[in-house]
Amino acid sequence: MEKYKVHQRLKKLAGIYGTPLLVMDLEIVKRNYELLVKSVKNSKVYYAVKANSHKKILTLLNNLGSNFDVASRGEIEKLLSIGVLPERMSFGNTIKKSSDIKFAHDVGIKLFAADSEMEIEKIAQNAPGAQVYVRISTNGMESDADWPLTRKFGTSVDHAIMLVKYAKSLGLNPVGVSFHVGSQSYNPNNWRVAIREVSVIFEETKRMGINLSMVNTGGGMPVKYSKNIPSIEEISEVINQAVEDYLEDNITVILEPGRSMVGNAGIMVSSVILRSRKGEEEWVYTDAGVFHGLTETIQNIRYEISVIGKEDDPLKEFVLAGPTCDSVDVMYYDAMLPESVALDDILVIYNTGAYTTEYGTTFNGMAPPRVMFEKGLLMADIKMAEENIHEG
Ligand SMILES: *Cc1c(COP(=O)(O)O)cnc(C)c1O
Repeated sequence: MEKYKVHQRLKKLAGIYGTPLLVMDLEIVKRNYELLVKSVKNSKVYYAVKANSHKKILTLLNNLGSNFDVASRGEIEKLLSIGVLPERMSFGNTIKKSSDIKFAHDVGIKLFAADSEMEIEKIAQNAPGAQVYVRISTNGMESDADWPLTRKFGTSVDHAIMLVKYAKSLGLNPVGVSFHVGSQSYNPNNWRVAIREVSVIFEETKRMGINLSMVNTGGGMPVKYSKNIPSIEEISEVINQAVEDYLEDNITVILEPGRSMVGNAGIMVSSVILRSRKGEEEWVYTDAGVFHGLTETIQNIRYEISVIGKEDDPLKEFVLAGPTCDSVDVMYYDAMLPESVALDDILVIYNTGAYTTEYGTTFNGMAPPRVMFEKGLLMADIKMAEENIHEG
């Protein structure tokens, strides 16, 4: 019932402002931040700005004391413009432009990531003396994460040891090791396995006289879409235990949540602009598609979707597609929607606060979803979803 109340509020907003909309609730972001800080011992949160860089979100997190993981000059400038101090930023992209490294160094950023010799050389040249950490790749099962980040990023343990040594030889200050188990990750044990690998690097480099003191456990904590997920507390407990088992006491644990910080704080609202039949297939087209915020549907992210006013109608399979003149613009070939779905119906797409508007383009001259903030909108929904997680 609570859920339908939220739907009525969303319908009203859609009536006033039009669609597509991304409606965010900052109270949820605050709650996510506080839960995470409380759950992982000796941790420092570096919010992954790329998940949602709306200034209201960045300002809230800055006020709560969060740090920030950035990927480019543009993200750094945005943070500086709202008063975030450079010492609260980590340049965590392993593929930086030299000019961006120089810019970051000049404004006072001290912490940089690398997973290759050349990146270390670029940092040594453009940010002499900076602190660096080396990223290793993790190897869970394909099915462990819906948005894998292993092949493009990170390197082997042996290579990481060489990179730490190399950084030191170029006058940099190696401080630690990072990894990312993959975004929307389902298997807490992957954090444990990765932390054990980090410990090997710590031991080897210690023998060379280099004392590393930071482990950066990346992001990867999941948000509830369609499948059941391990809770933040559960994953945090695995991290705490692994740090205790494999690393020394004085280690700083850096967390870089993106999805888990903002995903469940946003809800997208779009409209049906066409329903049509093509042979056996029935198609529903909406005004938000792959190029307008629903980009992650092209890999494995399965959002939960409702149609306002038809929540309890029987469902059937549709092809759900976006509005642009591009055949890639199809969200799901097997979306379950009310069989009564019709023109101008309003779709509610849950847990869309992360990696949606950031990917939004103006392709075909269509605007990405307008972002709005509604106080207290989602709290009841979140509580319900959490009860489901604990039951499941
Ligand atoms: C994208 C990214 C994150 C955030 O990952 P989530 O799975 O969204 O939490 C964290 N760290 C780095 C380096 C990233 O590239």
